[in-house]
Amino acid sequence: MALMTGEQYIESIRKLNMEVYMFGKRVESPVDDPILRPSLNSVRMTYDLAQMPEYQDLMTAVSPYTGERVNRFTHIHQSTEDLVKKVKMQRLLGQQTAACFQRCVGMDAFNAEFSTTYDTDQKYGTHYHENFRKFMTYCQENDLTVDGAMTDPKGDRSKAPSQQADPDLFLHVVERRADGIVVRGAKAHQTGALNSHEIIVMPTQSMKAEDADYAVSFALPVDAKGIYMIIGRQSCDTRKLEGSEMDVGNAEFGGVEALVVFDDVFVPNDRIFLNGEYEFAGVLVERFAGYHRQSYGGCKVGVGDVLIGAAAVAAEYNGAAKASHIKDKLIEMTHLNETLYACGIACSAEGHPTESGNYLIDLLLANVCKQNVTRFPYEIVRLAEDIAGGLMVTAPSEADLRDPKLGPVIEKYLKGVDSVPTENRLRILRLIENLALGTAAVGYRTESMHGAGSPQAQRIMISRQGNLEHKKALAKKLAHIKE
Ligand code: SF4
Ligand code: FE
Repeated sequence: MALMTGEQYIESIRKLNMEVYMFGKRVESPVDDPILRPSLNSVRMTYDLAQMPEYQDLMTAVSPYTGERVNRFTHIHQSTEDLVKKVKMQRLLGQQTAACFQRCVGMDAFNAEFSTTYDTDQKYGTHYHENFRKFMTYCQENDLTVDGAMTDPKGDRSKAPSQQADPDLFLHVVERRADGIVVRGAKAHQTGALNSHEIIVMPTQSMKAEDADYAVSFALPVDAKGIYMIIGRQSCDTRKLEGSEMDVGNAEFGGVEALVVFDDVFVPNDRIFLNGEYEFAGVLVERFAGYHRQSYGGCKVGVGDVLIGAAAVAAEYNGAAKASHIKDKLIEMTHLNETLYACGIACSAEGHPTESGNYLIDLLLANVCKQNVTRFPYEIVRLAEDIAGGLMVTAPSEADLRDPKLGPVIEKYLKGVDSVPTENRLRILRLIENLALGTAAVGYRTESMHGAGSPQAQRIMISRQGNLEHKKALAKKLAHIKE
């Protein structure tokens, strides 16, 4: 079974015995929980679209390792064309869900692990690449969703992992056995862990010799013994319990993050991809972060397309669509959004093969891409709120709209252009509210800031990759400076 249907995916997640907590209680059936379900629906779209002939080229690829057509989210990039298609696929999914569809972290971890395990083996004669390929082939053959878990809680940011007051603030090896290792710690902000079959754990930063126990990478099923998740709250999350899809704004899709705890979890030898070779921790981080910074040039652009469209519809419903300043604001939003996309495509087109054979993006351009993402969506949201008007945050509930006494009053006084029912006007404003301030704001705003690394992390990479010496030499040559 190389490709699962959306329904098969949902049922495969239902079968897992995950330990999930929310609001102080264990969630018995995460798949059926009304707060969590929209996030599962988003991942489901990565399966549903892969079944559609018109999207086959973007959503799937033939794996050179299995010889079969696999979902692109489990694919190892074989060319710059693959890298470009990845970004286009992410834009498509952002457009279809207006949410984080979560599955990219696994794809990005796959490609970072592929080359880094190879490089580690070359230096140390270890067998991590073989381990990883076995795991990757299993995921391709079974069309699994994989969480890529990098971010540790990190405690006191001025201290190295081994200097922390609590040694578990970075995930680490607590026991080495003949058949594997035992690990303890946690991974924070885990996008989609809840909707994944497997988790790939990676170190969160480069490590020194004294932190070798923290330089660890491996993969485990999400329901392995000792793993549990605490779901993060989102603004307006309990609106999903009120029974009004209209008030939620985007009732069908969403994203979800969790704190994933590893409470003395056993990892068998053949699932280990790094175990103490500390100088490769930084390499893995740099490559994973690079791929995920490329990803944001696709997914956030697709969500941006929906937001721009929603703002344009809101303007039409107000009768303001022909005003020149509205047209100009929509042009500005489009300009910003396409600039994000341009960087996502550019870092892909400028990719190159690694020693291991897969393709890596251009790291400088991928970091520039994500640095733009830390800024432009905020401006796009600001303009959308400007166009939407204050009603976006003052509109009454659906219950009031349906009330026999209040409904006609709302219909009368909150009407824009006469031909558009007030309900439609309220629906588009709720969608903008969802993206700007509600559950989806996690994915579109704050995740744009901090997901795939906070702005300063990209600036460090930009300074490393920017080749200032070369630029200085160019200037000195033209100025005829001889030193
Ligand atoms: Fe994919 Fe974007 Fe979500 Fe990352 S933030 S998992 S790239 S949709
Ligand atoms: Fe993300």
